[in-house]
Amino acid sequence: MNNISKTMQILAKKYPRSTTTLNSMRGNSTPFEILISCLLSLRTRDEVTDVVSRDLFKVARTPEKILKLPDKKLKKIIFKTGHFNKKAEILKSVSKELIKKFDSKIPNSYNELISIKGVGPKTANIVLAFAFGKLVLPIDIHCHRIPNRLGWIKTKTPEKTEKELEKILPKKYWRDFNSAFVQFGRETCLPVSPWCSRCPVAKFCERVGVGRSR
Ligand code: SF4
Repeated sequence: MNNISKTMQILAKKYPRSTTTLNSMRGNSTPFEILISCLLSLRTRDEVTDVVSRDLFKVARTPEKILKLPDKKLKKIIFKTGHFNKKAEILKSVSKELIKKFDSKIPNSYNELISIKGVGPKTANIVLAFAFGKLVLPIDIHCHRIPNRLGWIKTKTPEKTEKELEKILPKKYWRDFNSAFVQFGRETCLPVSPWCSRCPVAKFCERVGVGRSR
């Protein structure tokens, strides 16, 4: 077994899939709710995304209902997620586009999803993976940073990371990858001063570009 497989087995076991907010929405939320929660989750802690999403879905769980919400009320509900002015604007414009171009349904193709203003590659892959069960790799900052540190890949952008991981990561680990790396990046392989001294995969890591660590 190579180091990638060994690392994946350790991290997937330590960080089960269901423990991040977006992962836990698989199978019990609509594609629209998953998309909206993903948009709310940008630069926000999971616990906050969770609570705010629930509050919002109590009053609006369709594009039409989001559009009908007065701006002031929408901003008040999503205030805690931060960047609430921008996020309110995006929720409204995404809802408008869904109604106009997709008959209020969430498209299940990557190209259609990223054609919606405000939906980027990571969000599109989150929706494809968690709402439609497609085998794709949603790449956020943790999923981009850590495989580079481990020495698996050498990439400058999350988009390149996705392409390179598609080549080297065995498909049987794709469903576990996002959840494991997001949680690992929040707890141990932090952006600055990672906890290498208590890292469960330290012996498989090349620590590329890691300066100060703990
Ligand atoms: S050894 Fe350090 S840099 Fe490597 S994966 Fe672990 S925490 Fe991250």
